[in-house]
Amino acid sequence: MASILPPNRDSVEASLNLLPGECSDTKSDTVATFPSSQPSQSEDWRLGLQIAIRSSRKLCEFVGVDPQHACPSAESDFPVMVTREYASRIEKGNSLDPLLRQVLAAPGELNQEGLTDPVGELDSIRHKGLLQKYEHRVLLIVSGACAIHCRYCFRRSFPYSDTARGLAEWSEWIDWIKDDSSIHEVILSGGDPLSVADSRLDWLLQELDTIPHLRRIRFHTRLPVVLPSRITEALCSSLNQLSKALFIVLHTNHANEIDAAVSGAIRKLRSSGATLMNQAVLLRGVNDDFESLYNLCAELVDQNVLPYYLHQLDPVQGGLHFQVSDQRAFELIELLRTKLPGYAVPKLVREEPDHPSKTALM
Ligand SMILES: *Cc1c(COP(=O)(O)O)cnc(C)c1O
Ligand code: SF4
Repeated sequence: MASILPPNRDSVEASLNLLPGECSDTKSDTVATFPSSQPSQSEDWRLGLQIAIRSSRKLCEFVGVDPQHACPSAESDFPVMVTREYASRIEKGNSLDPLLRQVLAAPGELNQEGLTDPVGELDSIRHKGLLQKYEHRVLLIVSGACAIHCRYCFRRSFPYSDTARGLAEWSEWIDWIKDDSSIHEVILSGGDPLSVADSRLDWLLQELDTIPHLRRIRFHTRLPVVLPSRITEALCSSLNQLSKALFIVLHTNHANEIDAAVSGAIRKLRSSGATLMNQAVLLRGVNDDFESLYNLCAELVDQNVLPYYLHQLDPVQGGLHFQVSDQRAFELIELLRTKLPGYAVPKLVREEPDHPSKTALM
C-alpha cells in the first residue's frame, strides 16, 4: 500500500509492477531490448511481498507479543514492513527476540538526536542515484524498495524519489560509467537491488557486462535472507551469464535469520558463480554479545559465506538506541579472534563522511 509509505520511499508494488512492457520510460529503442513480459515462478516472491506484515500491531499479533512493546507513532515516517518468512523465525511471545527488535518500531526511534544523512551520502551523488564515494567504485540505487524495513536503516531518509527509475535513466547510468574508465566496480544497492523484476535486472547486468573497463559487479542485498523465494531461476541464469567477477554481499545480523529456505537460496546463488560475503551491523540487544556474533559467523562460514564487515552503527536519527560502544565492539572482535578461524572474523568498520574508505576500527 503506497499510502502508508513516506513520500521518498518506493512502494514495493510500484517498483515490482514496472514490468518491461509497462515501463514508465517509453524510450522505445531501450525498451525494445527487453524480452517480452513473461509470467513465471517470480509470482511467488511477489506474493510474499504483497502479504508482508505492515504494522506493529499486526506484527505483535503474528508473533504473540503484547502490542504495548510497539510504538505506533514511530511508524509514521518509516512504516513497519517485514515478510512473513522473516517474522516466522521470531520466537513466539519473546518481546526481546533479536529479529523482532530489528523490525518492530520502538520508542527509542522518537529520539531526535542523530543525523538524517549520517554517512554524508548526499554529497557523493553524481547522477540520479549513482553515488561515488570511493575510488574505482560506484554505487547504484537500483530501487528504493525493500522487503523489510530495518529500524536502524541509515538510508531511512534517502531521497529515493530523485533516483533513476525508467530504462532511459538507467541508460544514463550506463553512459556515465562508460565515460569514466577509472570505474572498476559497480555496486548494486538500494533499498534492495533484488526488489526489481528479473527482466529489468537482466537488462542492467547485460549492459554493465559489456563495459570493458568494468571488472567486477557487486550486489548488496537482504532479500535472499528475508525473502528467499526471490532467488529465481531467471535471476540465477542472468547471474550465470556474466563475464565479470560477481560478488554478492548478504546482509544478515543474526544466525536465527538463516533457516533451511535461506540456505537453499544461498546454495543457488553460489551455483550461479558468485562469491558470497556477509555484512552485519553491530546492534544493541540484537547481536552485541559474544554468543550471537560467534553463532552468526560460524553459521555463515558453514554455508560458504565469508563474514566481510561488521559495521558500527551509522548515527542515523531514529536509530541511536541500537548503538554499541567502540570499546564493547573491540572486546567482542578480540574474543571472536580467539575462537574462530581468521577468515570467519569480519572487519570492524565505521562509515564516515569525507573519508576515502570505510574506517577500520582495529
Ligand atoms: C560501502 C560503500 C562502498 C563499498 O566499500 P567497500 O569498502 O569496497 O566495501 C562503495 N560506495 C559507497 C557509497 C559505500 O557506502
Ligand atoms: S534492507 Fe537495507 S536499505 Fe532496506 S531497510 Fe533494511 S537496512 Fe535499509
